[in-house]
Amino acid sequence: MGLPFPIDLYDSISNEICRVGARMWRQGFCAGSDGNISARLDDDLIVITPSGVSKGDMRPDTMCVIRVDDGEHIHGPSPSSERAVHLAVYRERHDVEAVIHSHAPKSTAWACTGLPLPDAVHPEAELLLGRIPVVPYVTPGTGLLAEATAKALTPCTAAMLLGSHGTVTLGDSLEGALARLEMLEAYCRLVIELRVLGQTRRLTDAEMTDLLKVKRDMWGLPDDRY
Ligand SMILES: [Zn+2]
Repeated sequence: MGLPFPIDLYDSISNEICRVGARMWRQGFCAGSDGNISARLDDDLIVITPSGVSKGDMRPDTMCVIRVDDGEHIHGPSPSSERAVHLAVYRERHDVEAVIHSHAPKSTAWACTGLPLPDAVHPEAELLLGRIPVVPYVTPGTGLLAEATAKALTPCTAAMLLGSHGTVTLGDSLEGALARLEMLEAYCRLVIELRVLGQTRRLTDAEMTDLLKVKRDMWGLPDDRY
């Protein structure tokens, strides 16, 4: 029996997932078999990384296909143990084409403080990431983490921290989700370094208002704070 999806599309998405995984691994965002990556194959199906493999050394023909609605495993080896988090995002946000979960070190360090991530610190982060929710800690690999993630998600969320765990970034492509992960990691590094310096100049309300105007009028990007 043939596969219930176009093999050419599966091949090209799988190749892209391997390329993104290698870039994450080279940047030290995933030790051991940490992290998972997925992208939409069509409205009903996603391609997702298998469980227990290094993101630095994946083969495209080992990528899994699962159904968004009920999580049914359609193709490939056993899918990532965090698949429920990915599925929760795709169910809530029909505009999202790709999701990446990682334990990028600076972001994960901040996620382990239990503190909210400060905003109004750096203009690029405001433009490209916006408000970054911190999902309260729940045991990984359980339906509870997916539930908590869905609850924290808004129509504007681009990136999230999972409390005492790691990151989730969303994109309209795999490249977009990776760019947001890199931005989130750079932003957390900046915020941590500012703590070392002991002083942060927050953008003023007027500066934030001007910046959000640019974000809406020039960039056409969504933001909860308009
Ligand atoms: Zn994880």
